[in-house]
Amino acid sequence: MIDFSGSKDAQGLSEKDKWIQKMIKSAKKHHKLCPYFDKKTQKCFIRLGKTCDRDGKFDMCPTFMEFLSSKYDEYVSKNKPLPVDFMDIVL
Ligand code: SF4
Repeated sequence: MIDFSGSKDAQGLSEKDKWIQKMIKSAKKHHKLCPYFDKKTQKCFIRLGKTCDRDGKFDMCPTFMEFLSSKYDEYVSKNKPLPVDFMDIVL
């Protein structure tokens, strides 16, 4: 979920929003379809096996963005450096 708290830049984006957008861009470089989409069963790994209603198109997927948002919070709360590439996000 997009974070509307904290400091924002001229476009109204917080550091968290910018990081999420950066990770989506990076993920798109590595994956045509969502990395958490099971093509065979149409299930979403993040949604604990519920069906993906987007055919694996993760751009603007709220579930995917919420996942990234929670990852951001996790890295920040543990004082760990934020990944610069989607592939470096630790599940
Ligand atoms: S619901 Fe979103 S996160 Fe889950 S598999 Fe589909 S596109 Fe990916």
